[in-house]
Amino acid sequence: MSEFNLNILGCGSATPSLRHLPACQVVDYRGQLMMVDCGEGAQLSMRRLGLKFSRLGHIFISHLHGDHCLGLPGLLSTLALHQKGGSLTVHTFADGVEMFSRMMDFFCRERTFELKFNVIDPTKRGVVLDLPSLTVESFPLRHRVPCVGYLFREKPKQRHLVGDLVRFYNIPVSQLKAIKDGADFVTPDGVVVPNDRLTTPADLSASYAYCSDTVYSPQLAEVVRGVDLLYHEATYADDSAHKARARFHSTASEAARIARDAGVGALVLGHFSNAYNSEARHLEEARAIFPDTIAAREGLVIEVRSKK
Ligand SMILES: [Zn+2]
Ligand SMILES: [Zn+2]
Repeated sequence: MSEFNLNILGCGSATPSLRHLPACQVVDYRGQLMMVDCGEGAQLSMRRLGLKFSRLGHIFISHLHGDHCLGLPGLLSTLALHQKGGSLTVHTFADGVEMFSRMMDFFCRERTFELKFNVIDPTKRGVVLDLPSLTVESFPLRHRVPCVGYLFREKPKQRHLVGDLVRFYNIPVSQLKAIKDGADFVTPDGVVVPNDRLTTPADLSASYAYCSDTVYSPQLAEVVRGVDLLYHEATYADDSAHKARARFHSTASEAARIARDAGVGALVLGHFSNAYNSEARHLEEARAIFPDTIAAREGLVIEVRSKK
């Protein structure tokens, strides 16, 4: 399995249906699990997909509509029962911190893990998590209430050493990191060995953008420009474009327009209304604009990788 995967746990919209669960995803980056939205059923879906509670370190909430966050109290209570250790950070708005911390104090006073909150400003784009190899940014979306999307971006990777030449030049271990970062090597008698002799190019870095509930807004293409994988809500097909606008949601065609204009690698549609019995129409309409489109479904695992 690759080191950067997206697991779809729920891809329905607000009204519960028998076809889809409410919004929830888990990004698995080198074994670290980061949940994106936490609709009802999140904890059972984690079990079903074999995603370990102990590896969950971050939960990013896009907005405070129930279909995106009502799974949180149940999940956190269960984590306490399971005696999860370490820490868990919930990234949400100030209102969310107030609400969830009260809930947790009520339902789950005795915790085995440290629960932290990171307050997100829904009006600004900014880095919300900075790991050694990956950053997560939030960016504003246009919905009926404050709402953000999330952008997971791998940092540039190191170049690969050519082992034979490292041994040939007897390069000290202390210099290997600098060489992997692009430095040349200078031998004790002053000869410069250029970096491109000692290394081969780094693997490409991959990126994933999650666009939660939003009305179509063309400016979004700039924010998600060039990502390898884009998830964009597609609550409706073209037949309900008026409803999409009135309710601050998008159609599949609009999601595809964002994908095309942003030049992304691939598009995943989700947040489907329960008014449809299948996603066939969404797919057909989106693929007419952006062919590399798939529909999300519960249990789907997608590798996030760069094809550039
Ligand atoms: Zn929603
Ligand atoms: Zn919403």
